[in-house]
Amino acid sequence: MQAYDDANIFAKILRGEIPSTKVYEDEHCLAFMDIMPQVEGHVLVIAKAPSRTLLDADPDALSALMPRVQRIGRAAVAALKADGLTLMQFSEAPAGQTVFHLHFHLLPRHEGVPMRS
Ligand code: 5GP
Repeated sequence: MQAYDDANIFAKILRGEIPSTKVYEDEHCLAFMDIMPQVEGHVLVIAKAPSRTLLDADPDALSALMPRVQRIGRAAVAALKADGLTLMQFSEAPAGQTVFHLHFHLLPRHEGVPMRS
């Protein structure tokens, strides 16, 4: 498994070096809008703990993160009056990961509206 590299774009967002549209922040996570949304309201929740993927994440950091993912997902669904939520997480490039800082995609879903590819 490769080591975490803090030159990734989400680490830069966390450090405030790159702007983002923030929707939630606390000591464990930052949530902001995806720059290329696959549906309306596509939010990214990133850990503040420096892990590269779900596979190398500290279980205690994950324990703190997951209730926040749920809370942010509930808020996004309520705000958009969505019918459901797609949660996606890609670990390592063969699985589709492009930014190597642990993050979850939260996609509010409406009946009959497909995800953009
Ligand atoms: P991954 O494929 O690694 O799971 O997803 C990375 C996500 O980060 C993609 O959905 C992409 O659109 C998003 N992304 C990449 N660069 C930026 C950026 O500079 N700002 C924001 N807000 N999202 C980004």
